[in-house]
Amino acid sequence: MSPLNPKPGILDIAPYVGGDSAIDGIDDIIKLASNEGALGPSPKAVQAYRQAGETLHRYPDGGSADLREALGKANGIDANRIVCGSGSDELLDLLARAYAGPGDEVLFTEHGFLMYPIATKGVGATPVVVPETNLTADVDAILKRVTDNTRIIFLANPNNPTGTYLSDAEVRRLHAGLPSGVLLVIDAAYAEYVELDDYTAGAELVDEFDNVVMTRTFSKLYALGGARLGWAYCPEAVADVLNRLRGPFNVNSAAQAAGLAALADTDFADKVRAHTRKWYDWTRQQLGGLGLEVPSKVGNFLLVRFPGDDEHNAGAANEFLKSRGIIVRLMAGYGLPDCLRITIGQENEMRALIDALAEFMG
Ligand SMILES: *Cc1c(COP(=O)(O)O)cnc(C)c1O
Repeated sequence: MSPLNPKPGILDIAPYVGGDSAIDGIDDIIKLASNEGALGPSPKAVQAYRQAGETLHRYPDGGSADLREALGKANGIDANRIVCGSGSDELLDLLARAYAGPGDEVLFTEHGFLMYPIATKGVGATPVVVPETNLTADVDAILKRVTDNTRIIFLANPNNPTGTYLSDAEVRRLHAGLPSGVLLVIDAAYAEYVELDDYTAGAELVDEFDNVVMTRTFSKLYALGGARLGWAYCPEAVADVLNRLRGPFNVNSAAQAAGLAALADTDFADKVRAHTRKWYDWTRQQLGGLGLEVPSKVGNFLLVRFPGDDEHNAGAANEFLKSRGIIVRLMAGYGLPDCLRITIGQENEMRALIDALAEFMG
């Protein structure tokens, strides 16, 4: 036993296991495991990233001012209340550090994003896992578990890995039931993909109330996961807290440049959106045709439920796909052992996936 003792909670964290990115013995793999944008980053973002290499000896703009200004304009929101982070993961972590600690409770739902328990346990707070209904966050179930000790509610909307979402009306009903001292964090990592009238990412709620934060990322539609870039839209007091707590240079200069260029390339973003919509619908329909249940409704990934028998279960499907060079995501870590999560990729990738699954289901 090491004589060094980490703070309570930290050793309760199950180390995060990311999606595989290689298969032994297969060179040409199809990676559909991490919800990365189907068409890769905008070429303009890649160019800006490269160009930033020329000035790597300079510290970045610690306040990410140009990027915040562009985000403010693009989203019609107040740039002064945006805080950028090294991925939205960093911002979720900072929010936990700022507002929760030992003795405090942090709520998230049963199949919520795996970063929430990490951020919660990392500050020694108590995670409270709320059951879902039909793989969807249940407002009444969440409100029932709010106590005097509740400090934060992490809500992924849409949720990963289920691909379900709460309507604007439901999110408002959730907020209306919360004491003003509870922070509602709306993690809208997939907002760019949702084109439904009853959905909003949450910026209006942030403008209306002092206890709502919305987090966003450049890792999904903008496909800049490797650059680590996310942002939070906050009430003034929360932005102030995050700006005190974050590292003074938490977002590197190349990421800021790439993000700025990606945001400006709206044609490319539109292309990704249109591509994803088309192949999301196609893949969903094909999976249904194979007799597989797909609970997901929005996003750039599909949660797929497999039968329970020895031959056709999710684990066997995963191994079969691997033998064909296709990497998807096992969901046991999310409490969904009968499911796989499959990201929407390029056309040839989705066709290869469906061909392989058709053979597997036989
Ligand atoms: C991918 C993802 C994130 C993390 O995004 P980063 O900005 O890459 O840290 C946050 N929340 C959800 C629900 C995600 O799926």
